[in-house]
Amino acid sequence: MIEFKHVSKKYANQITAVDNFNLKIQQGEFVYVIGPSGAGKSTFIKMMYREEKPTLGQIKVNEYELEKIKNSKIPFFRRELGIVFQDFKLLSKLTVFENIAYALQVIEKDPVEIKKRVNHVLKLVKLVSKGAAFPAELSGGEQQRVAIARAIANKPSILIADEPTGNLDPETAEGIMKILEKINIQGTTVVMATHNSHIVNEFRHRVIEIENGHVIRDQDEGSFFQDE
Ligand code: ADP
Ligand code: ADP
Repeated sequence: MIEFKHVSKKYANQITAVDNFNLKIQQGEFVYVIGPSGAGKSTFIKMMYREEKPTLGQIKVNEYELEKIKNSKIPFFRRELGIVFQDFKLLSKLTVFENIAYALQVIEKDPVEIKKRVNHVLKLVKLVSKGAAFPAELSGGEQQRVAIARAIANKPSILIADEPTGNLDPETAEGIMKILEKINIQGTTVVMATHNSHIVNEFRHRVIEIENGHVIRDQDEGSFFQDE
């Protein structure tokens, strides 16, 4: 569960990127965050994983009240989240298998368990045969699938994705969406910022539209454009 109560974020340059957000995302929902460049989408999403702190208001993610959370607790909080970026952020010197295992070594010490879990998520994103490959040997779509596998390896309750299909061609983007939907159907909340109107219209989910730091629309099964 994610809850924003009267949340605003004003950066040091006095820009108010997010102005009085009040909303709730229930466990298991799939939510798109849309809006033009500079609208406040990334700021909204970064506050969910405590990369940015709000200037005003309260944010609750699962059992954590983010305005009160101690720095020492942040790593534990982050373990409940999986995060995926437009540019994948894979470690280039590690293989696919190692990229995913690395994320688990912090919390799971048993190498047998780690191996099992890595193989399970590789199967889910259909990349078992690429475990020994390095990121540079993969296509963009494959790299994003590795990034998703890594993000879900420790079974997060929430998967946050900032423009996950931004660098991918339409067909590859659809493949990524099918994986995100599969993860969502298994119970994971998915919050995805996107500019991709085709994806939003084809795979219908709740749409939170932001403009100039304001939520201007919050609609179940919404389309990309309000009147479609
Ligand atoms: P979006 O993700 O929708 O493109 P952002 O959340 O990145 O929007 O940005 C919202 C507004 O906040 C923009 O005007 C942007 O220039 C400003 N902004 C974003 N990050 C910072 C920052 N670290 N410092 C100052 N201003 C920022
Ligand atoms: P896509 O059609 O998804 O864009 P590509 O045409 O880039 O994929 O790649 C097709 C296949 O070739 C993929 O399985 C990928 O792993 C492999 N491949 C792509 N680039 C390289 C590379 N530089 N070295 C080795 N294998 C590669």
